[in-house]
Amino acid sequence: MSGILYLVPTPIGNLGDLSDRVRETLSAVDFIAAEDTRVSLKLLNHLGLKKPLVSYYEHNRAESGPRILARLQGGESCALVTDAGTPAISDPGQDLVALCAGADVPVCAIPGPCAAVTALAASGLPTGRFTFEGFLSTAPKSRREHLDALRGERRTMIFYEAPHKLVRTLSDFASVFGPERRISLCRELTKLHEEILRTTLGEAAAYYETQAPRGEYVLILEGAPAPEPVPAPSLADATERVNALIAQGLRRKEAVKQVSEALGIPKNTLYEASLP
Ligand code: SAM
Repeated sequence: MSGILYLVPTPIGNLGDLSDRVRETLSAVDFIAAEDTRVSLKLLNHLGLKKPLVSYYEHNRAESGPRILARLQGGESCALVTDAGTPAISDPGQDLVALCAGADVPVCAIPGPCAAVTALAASGLPTGRFTFEGFLSTAPKSRREHLDALRGERRTMIFYEAPHKLVRTLSDFASVFGPERRISLCRELTKLHEEILRTTLGEAAAYYETQAPRGEYVLILEGAPAPEPVPAPSLADATERVNALIAQGLRRKEAVKQVSEALGIPKNTLYEASLP
């Protein structure tokens, strides 16, 4: 029988966010697949645990993934941990999960810290509907295509960003979404210097002209406003249009039919209202 792949979330800054279930799972599994074994070793030392570690990260996932899968199929259980937060969210975990799902190896995701959800919850922006956009590409063409595709997006958008790229991103956001669009810049979440700046794109750009961005950021961007509702046509306007068509030579019945279809006003109502 196959073992289980556990997706084990780790703190995004505050060790107090390590749950009992995470401790129990890390101590129970046969081995741990880590994005950076040095980072995970520190965590294991903190927990007083010793476990075999294998490396699974962006640049070795093609070879490491099948090796981990084979061990799972051989009956061993594995905990996947990344440097911080929930594995598979903007980190290489998603490929290992897909590999396991394709081979019918059970995957158990343990809930826990995730920078995107933590920032969204604290943003003060609508949380009812949102999209996760991850990191923007640094390649100009795909970056532009990504932003263009979001021009009319009405849902709140979540982006990850590194401090040295923040100023360029804010400037690109302002040119695509306009300087009035609201944004919450959430940095150093769960850490000593946690800060949430709730502002507009224009003001955020001005703020970072004098202030060097520091720490990791989640950017929560307000969605596009709903389009202005088109006012319902009044009966008086509709009647005027009917009379204008009659003046051009149409019979009343035909004029009413045309205007009724165009404006969605019932024919009988319109016919009666148009009578002299
Ligand atoms: N899997 C992780 C999760 O569940 O949040 C995300 C991994 S992604 C490689 C790392 C990015 O998450 C950072 O560049 C930053 O945008 C965001 N991030 C992680 N920790 C953060 C924190 N404490 N405060 C703000 N953003 C954070």
